[in-house]
Amino acid sequence: MIVIMKPNADECQIQHVIDLVREYGLKEHIIVGTDRTVIACIGDKRIVDKGAIENAPNVERIVPILAPYKIASREVKTERTTIKVGCEGFELGGNKIGIIAGPCAVEGYEPLMKTAIVAAEVGCIGIRAGAFKPRTSPYSFQGMGLEGLKILAQAREQTSLAVITEVVAVEQIDTVAEYADVLQVGARNMQHYPLLEALGRVDKPVLLKRGMSAHLDEFLLAAEYIIDAGNDKVILCERGIRTFENYVRNTLPLAAVAELKDKTHLPIVVDPSHGTGHAHLVPAMCRAAVAAGADGLLIECHHDPEHAASDGAQSITHETLSQLMPQLKAIARAIGRDV
Ligand code: PEP
Ligand code: MN
Repeated sequence: MIVIMKPNADECQIQHVIDLVREYGLKEHIIVGTDRTVIACIGDKRIVDKGAIENAPNVERIVPILAPYKIASREVKTERTTIKVGCEGFELGGNKIGIIAGPCAVEGYEPLMKTAIVAAEVGCIGIRAGAFKPRTSPYSFQGMGLEGLKILAQAREQTSLAVITEVVAVEQIDTVAEYADVLQVGARNMQHYPLLEALGRVDKPVLLKRGMSAHLDEFLLAAEYIIDAGNDKVILCERGIRTFENYVRNTLPLAAVAELKDKTHLPIVVDPSHGTGHAHLVPAMCRAAVAAGADGLLIECHHDPEHAASDGAQSITHETLSQLMPQLKAIARAIGRDV
């Protein structure tokens, strides 16, 4: 349930409600809006004397949260969450759409820098690349590990782009967090609950990818794990789902963007690279994702896709990225946003 305070409720009155909520064994999550404070109460509400809370000074009303996820729900917070990404003051989830581009994996200093320089020049806000790669086959390139993270940090130093990179296991979190600006949770790990809980204790944004067979409710419940553990800087990423269709690697359900915008206040990013698996489909899906309301894009882009260590087939070239950016800007402006 949520306790909605009146706009003039003061700190003491809010604290009084928090104390009551705790007395009933519930956990509170406070959302300070521009207009009023809302207290989401998580736990078994059957034992709660709602009347006692409702009669507390300056409580406006109590409403149940119907969605299975609670704090991620728009029932609890109607204002959109914006998350600072990188050091340039960019806020994902705000009016400006954030484009993040880069190779699937860090392959070395020179290649990463080539893409980072182009990404920065064309107006991207971040560079993506995996240092720890969750590969389907144990025999595929597994990433450069710590060395890859160091290269990413050098790319940030030289371009000011934010670094988005994947964390595959709980024991890697501290190391990855030392170098990255945004910690990515891959599709294969969306329901790795100990990892999600551990990321809830980190003070860095988390980009959570949708599991390839996850329903939207399961996706949002995975986000809820991170928020419930203490980190509300969660960015959702639609990266396509498994269907019977086989002309693509995954099917990219862009209606999910509109649906998620309705269900949650969290920013939503689209990954059209894993979402299609084919570079020639990526520009169209980027344009469509922006039109559908995505707050950002996560695009695989490589200086020489044919020779990429991983996911070359779905990586666009530098040239394609450069041509795409003004198109995305035009589409964003047509819907009252910007890139
Ligand atoms: C990636 O971003 O390179 C990646 C492995 O993505 P996903 O987890 O969506 O498959
Ligand atoms: Mn990839």
